[in-house]
Amino acid sequence: MMQPFPLSEAKAPEHVGPLPASADAVVIGGGVIGVTTALFLARAGASVVLVEKGRVAAEQSSRNWGWIRVQGRDMAEVPIALEAQALWQALAGEVDTDIGLVSGGVAYLAGSAGEVARYARWRAEAGRFGVSTEVLDSAATARLLPGASVGWAGAMWTPSDMRAEPYVAVPALARLAARAGAVIREGCAARRLDIVSGRVAGVTTEAGRIRAGAVVLAGGAWSSLFLRAHGVSIPQLSVRATVVRTAPLPEVFAGAAVDSRLAFRRRADGGYTLAPEAFHELYIGPDAFRALPAFVPQLRRDPFNTAYKPAAPRGFPDGWGTRRGWDADSVTPFERMRVLNPAPNLRRSERLLRDFAATFPGLGPVAMAQRWAGMIDLMADSVPVVGPVERLPGLIVATGMSGHGFGIGPGFGRVLADLVRGVDPGHDLTRFRIGRFSDGSRLDLGPHL
Ligand SMILES: Cc1cc2nc3c(=O)[nH]c(=O)nc-3n(C[C@H](O)[C@H](O)[C@H](O)COP(=O)(O)OP(=O)(O)OC[C@H]3O[C@@H](n4cnc5c(N)ncnc54)[C@H](O)[C@@H]3O)c2cc1C
Repeated sequence: MMQPFPLSEAKAPEHVGPLPASADAVVIGGGVIGVTTALFLARAGASVVLVEKGRVAAEQSSRNWGWIRVQGRDMAEVPIALEAQALWQALAGEVDTDIGLVSGGVAYLAGSAGEVARYARWRAEAGRFGVSTEVLDSAATARLLPGASVGWAGAMWTPSDMRAEPYVAVPALARLAARAGAVIREGCAARRLDIVSGRVAGVTTEAGRIRAGAVVLAGGAWSSLFLRAHGVSIPQLSVRATVVRTAPLPEVFAGAAVDSRLAFRRRADGGYTLAPEAFHELYIGPDAFRALPAFVPQLRRDPFNTAYKPAAPRGFPDGWGTRRGWDADSVTPFERMRVLNPAPNLRRSERLLRDFAATFPGLGPVAMAQRWAGMIDLMADSVPVVGPVERLPGLIVATGMSGHGFGIGPGFGRVLADLVRGVDPGHDLTRFRIGRFSDGSRLDLGPHL
């Protein structure tokens, strides 16, 4: 199970070879969204090429907490997340390795009666989808986490929610896609869309052109940079999130849980993945200035969980010196940074160990085995963008998963494959349309529980 992590350019590429001259569809980005889109397209008999500038899953898709939850999602996501859980279960049986998929449950632990009331409202609304979520009182919460020193006011608990080991799971899904016939190319950045008579006609990559009538952009934190170079603006920013892996520990909770300061989940290697609840760091850059008005409602709702840094490290998507425009013949920012690998916040990661040890005093001192960070691609309303771009027929965007795209990934992958093929995806995607940011709609923030 253990592989080099975080995934980086040091990992030898698994998917190499000549680039096909044409395909039914090109997918840009080898994270969970792009990989599962390619998988379901290939299974439907379409020819598909996925290009990844660095390594499959080396950015968010291997750095995340590994929660596969339905609980707490925007109502428009719930049916897709439920489908995704069924897909995860099926896919876990088809991949060539154990991805650590466990239905261990997810708990949100409340610090106040007000939070419990918010959980109850979410539960009441999501009830129509048949979720297994329960709202627990303080005593039932104490029974769920018997070794904890904290007296929580209650909890939202979804026993059927899952977890998996992301850095194993997404590369395994990529191999499954390749076996199904998808062509995957690592170390191959998409530079520009080829546009003929106002329609997308393919992609120019650093290794040559691919003709295709459909392109799916699943570029994570790089998507807005790519789109802007084609005249399309979206309010998307990336924020740094720090994660710690502990050394193996006795099991104090078999699932995943979060309260107002700490998130933790049991790992397949016997340790815990720890992270601060919703704390993020935003590097200020040109996009941050541009998108600020759109982000004001989100920042107002949760003013204390974002720290601001004056400038991103060199080469980051919203770095001050990052190029915003280029032609198809020049080296792009995507090639200059193969893997977005932010340094973790050292102080925060030390504090995580102390917080976890204080929450479960029976553990004694908690040792760190590893720490890392990832850049989360956040939309102004915390809701993903999934759907066609009207101004560029042939382009479908799937980005801005806003910190919860791993679990729902295979669901959106299946949906995107249907969109490419012109088949009704079977879910209402109105909430995810890109036009919501430009058609005068009021910003409708996703849930904050
Ligand atoms: C610390 C952390 C914790 C998280 N916890 C959870 C969780 O517990 N549960 C959950 O559901 N979600 C979680 N998330 C969110 C989740 O990881 C992401 O939403 C999801 O992985 C996004 O997948 P993606 O495919 O959209 O993007 P990514 O995984 O970021 O992949 C995008 C890929 O596109 C490539 N790319 C970009 N531009 C180009 C180009 N021009 N040409 C070629 N390739 C390109 C990049 O190199 C990258 O590999 C977390 C995220 C982080 C960072």
